[in-house]
Amino acid sequence: MALIVQKFGGTSVSSTERIKNVARRVARWKAQGHDIIVVPSAMSGETNRLIGLAKEISSSPDPRELDVIASTGEQVTIALLAMALHEAGLKAKSYTGAQVRVLTDSTFTKARILQIDDKRIREDLGEGNVVVVAGFQGADERGNITTLGRGGSDTSAVALAAALKADECQIYTDVDGVYTTDPRVVPEARKLDTITFEEMLEMASLGSKVLQIRSVEFAGKYKVKLRVLSSFQDEGEGTLITVEENKQMEQPIISGIAFNRDEAKLTVLGVPDRPGIAYQILGPIAEANIDVDMIIQNVGHDGTTDFSFTVNRGDFNKALMVLETVKGHVGAREIVGDNKTCKVSAVGVGMRSHPGVASQMFRTLAGEGINIQMISTSEIKISVVIDEKYLELAVRVLHKTFGLDQAA
Ligand code: ADP
Ligand code: ASP
Ligand code: MG
Repeated sequence: MALIVQKFGGTSVSSTERIKNVARRVARWKAQGHDIIVVPSAMSGETNRLIGLAKEISSSPDPRELDVIASTGEQVTIALLAMALHEAGLKAKSYTGAQVRVLTDSTFTKARILQIDDKRIREDLGEGNVVVVAGFQGADERGNITTLGRGGSDTSAVALAAALKADECQIYTDVDGVYTTDPRVVPEARKLDTITFEEMLEMASLGSKVLQIRSVEFAGKYKVKLRVLSSFQDEGEGTLITVEENKQMEQPIISGIAFNRDEAKLTVLGVPDRPGIAYQILGPIAEANIDVDMIIQNVGHDGTTDFSFTVNRGDFNKALMVLETVKGHVGAREIVGDNKTCKVSAVGVGMRSHPGVASQMFRTLAGEGINIQMISTSEIKISVVIDEKYLELAVRVLHKTFGLDQAA
């Protein structure tokens, strides 16, 4: 008998019919004698709808109140799922994050989990209940409701698995595992049987939203056995996230292509090339709570240089406004912005021992006439910023050139 945490994403609970399906699936696991904790997301589209309502009232709603409304989507699905489990003949109890006491910090809309009280859950499991816990949410030490950032139910599930020392955390979604790239963009993408934590972390942080990045961090840190599976298929082992590189087989150099459509680029032209400039530009950006991704400073000439960086597209206008205010202060010539950019990345631990991946990537993009605007690398990834109109093409050709397409 094992303790298993099962998370079901938005599309898996998008109707009462699908919620009944989830209940049937949980019942099968329960019948095998396992203890089960289920973590549903809100019905698909619901969180967007709730945030949309808030935006109809205010263009910049108070983050605390935004969390109060955004967290309600999951409160609906936990109750419906508990009822469906009852109908399937099981004992079940639902809890919101605050009721469990998923304790978080107070960073509304992207709170971090600090601690989980496992007492009630253990008691309920001991009495034979399936315990249903709302994903995406917790409460801070003053009892304020918080949410964990978009896609945060993955993190709720992994954190519960860590806190209760579960044998496995299963993430059920609308694809049957982690693929070499988003199968909705490249139909030739291949499902991976395993992927290392390191690679999954890179893929998630570079835009593959199949797992929220924090869930992968958590699973790596607390050694949670993490698996991605389809909620619509009964067969299949999904993808296991592993610590070890698979040493038995010749590993591909690149394991996946990730992309992010949400990248926007800002450039400060003609700034004086002297110490402190990067800080003078990026300090106010950080103070405005804008996350910066890639940064490039050109080689200076004539005592001036150009400075570019990328931010989330949602922060583009805010970042432009901040730069206009620092422009005079730093003595820059001009501020230019482009919010029609995207980022495409090749990821693979095999890159460490194989030089030449970057040149192959650049040659392939050049062959398609795709101009590279920015480049950034780490030990196991290479990312480029390009015009968003080339996104699909770039992902497809890179997937092919690195030998990731499945055999026809
Ligand atoms: P859920 O609502 O279940 O949390 P998400 O939409 O958050 O589901 O994540 C699943 C989606 O992630 C898939 O439908 C797929 O389009 C996308 N995706 C992006 N990159 C990948 C990848 N490398 N492998 C599998 N799915 C991916
Ligand atoms: N419902 C939340 C969202 O849409 C959390 C999740 O689905 O994981 O972001
Ligand atoms: Mg998700």
